[in-house]
Amino acid sequence: MTAHVITIGDELLIGQVLNTNQAFIGERLSAIGVRTVAMTTVGDDIEAIQSEFRRAWESCPVVIVTGGLGPTHDDITKHAVCQFFGMELVSNPDIRRRVEELLSRRNLPWTPAAEDQTMVPRGAEVIANPIGTAPGVRISRDARHFIVLPGVPYEMEEMLTRSVIPFLAPLIRGQAISHRTLRTTGIPESFLAQQLGDLDTLLQGSSLAFLPSPAGVRLRITVLAATAEEAERRVAEAELRIRAKVGKYVYGTGEEELEDVLGRILRERKMTIAVAESCTGGLITHRITNVGGSSDYLERGVVAYSNVSKTELLGVPPEIIATHGAVSKETALAMAEGIRKIARADIGLSTTGIAGPTGGSLEKPVGLVWIGCADPSGSIAVKFHFGEGRTRVKERASQAAMELVRRRIMKIV
Ligand code: ATP
Ligand code: MG
Repeated sequence: MTAHVITIGDELLIGQVLNTNQAFIGERLSAIGVRTVAMTTVGDDIEAIQSEFRRAWESCPVVIVTGGLGPTHDDITKHAVCQFFGMELVSNPDIRRRVEELLSRRNLPWTPAAEDQTMVPRGAEVIANPIGTAPGVRISRDARHFIVLPGVPYEMEEMLTRSVIPFLAPLIRGQAISHRTLRTTGIPESFLAQQLGDLDTLLQGSSLAFLPSPAGVRLRITVLAATAEEAERRVAEAELRIRAKVGKYVYGTGEEELEDVLGRILRERKMTIAVAESCTGGLITHRITNVGGSSDYLERGVVAYSNVSKTELLGVPPEIIATHGAVSKETALAMAEGIRKIARADIGLSTTGIAGPTGGSLEKPVGLVWIGCADPSGSIAVKFHFGEGRTRVKERASQAAMELVRRRIMKIV
């Protein structure tokens, strides 16, 4: 079963509002095995909306439309739907009662806009809106379904989840879909692809998407099969074959963040960590403390930005900074060893680097970051180049630092 998603609104076209409805609908449809083949966005223009309706309705048995349902002058979706299907707008008594109730509860008068909210195409199925006034509608013809939902994301999400997905899911037979996402870090997309080798051999009919971000590349495996069990089994097999090739870069699956994984590993081993951050400015500690119960393993996090603070708070000898510079292997090591000792933690982790845009040199360019790690097996410092963009450098450094700890604990080389 295929679907075409149409989002309506000038604000989407000019980039004023991020089109989150598209992503949400695509994800939910895919989860029940409906294949979205197109997503289009049109402005608040009746001609444009009509012609997009025509295109979508000709090619897909499921069309989902969001936006432009409300009472403001630019909300013309309902009129477009009526023209398209040759229906007329009529006031729906159930919706009228609901809107009346809502308005009186908020002590608001009845207005033409309220009247407008009660109007739906005659003969269409009403999709209840449990949290707002604008209802959705479904028009079904010969096993084809045209579904219209409000643009407000939380209303749309609620209605899609409560009404639309439960309606569509039973219509899909002989088709089950299964996904699994493997999260990697510390390896660029192209290297990952190279290490995976021939994809046909590897995937054996399943499909693989590379989803890169500053934190790493996610690998999403998808399998379509006759039954849910078969889809599950084939996804699991594909995962094993992928892990056999690039397993050491995979830190987690699904929605798991690296801080979740690291936290679990530390807790299991009853180990503690202390962090001394310079260029990451507390981001590593922030991420570690995003996980509930992190006080079990995080002893402290210190932001030591100036040279003086590296000496005062971490005990870094001033000579080291004077001789090698604040951004150096020696300083990173001394910071990690210093925080480990002062905090009496099992692991000391440190970052020092040049986040830019200024402060770089030929020898030490913007994006250069040294990450230090001191633990019971010894100390190391690793040099990274994270490119430009302050927040991206910080993000990538925080990811690389936590990954360094993970790999050392797990003895992954
Ligand atoms: P309302 O009853 O509130 O008028 P509506 O169906 O008319 O709802 P719109 O007026 O088009 O919806 O949009 C309402 C709000 O939802 C606006 O803030 C709009 O920016 C936002 N919105 C609309 N479409 C999307 C979308 N595709 N993704 C994210 N936000 C959206
Ligand atoms: Mg709008």
